[in-house]
Amino acid sequence: MIVVIDGPAGSGKSSTAKAVAAQLQIQFLDSGALYRVATLVYLNCQKDYRQFFDQLEESEISFYFKKKKFHAFLNGRDVSDDIRSMEVSESVSEVASNSEVRAYINDLMREVVKHDIYIADGRDLGTAVFPDAALKFYMIADLETRAKRRFNEVKAQGKDVTLDEVKQNIAQRDEKDSNRSSDPLKKADDAILVDTSEMTFEEQVAFISDKIEQLISSQKK
Ligand code: C5P
Repeated sequence: MIVVIDGPAGSGKSSTAKAVAAQLQIQFLDSGALYRVATLVYLNCQKDYRQFFDQLEESEISFYFKKKKFHAFLNGRDVSDDIRSMEVSESVSEVASNSEVRAYINDLMREVVKHDIYIADGRDLGTAVFPDAALKFYMIADLETRAKRRFNEVKAQGKDVTLDEVKQNIAQRDEKDSNRSSDPLKKADDAILVDTSEMTFEEQVAFISDKIEQLISSQKK
């Protein structure tokens, strides 16, 4: 079974999905992290697209979720922290707009979720990757709130960045993610809209967990 949360950067998808997964003891899949790992490969290839595609085909991308943390690996190396750098954030939307990269990451995700119950977060999961997901949510929040959340996250990792830089990066990514031709950021018609601007974190987690629990108990009847 797969439950998806889509929405723009910083809307609270990842942190909410992680907390829901921990609470309900299901798996968590951070699709943005996979695009970030692909972006690391791109940067390692000095942004040379030909070399990048060859390298990506040969790369092994893997991940697991443990103790509320999503760990991502590139060729066996834990790159969970490296993928959160501003350098990666600045290139990820460009890399993710490439249809070959999207096909590669989508195959990886579809294969993995066959084997367990997952909650996944991303941009196009409800519309393109998992159109038959058991439940779909679309999370939004105003730009100011989202920028502050991301700024606090990046600062907590000891990175030197200003709120303005984070805000600009988020606004640019929203623009690229919403306007690209391959599977743009968009609410699925059957997704439940969750505006987190005025919600506490606990409220977000409770809202989504309750809906999943209701679905699971209705399936048991
Ligand atoms: O979720 P996060 O902000 O880490 O995602 C990084 C980037 O990966 C997004 O800005 C977007 O360009 C891309 N992405 C995507 N499709 C997804 C998840 C992320 O294009 N399903």
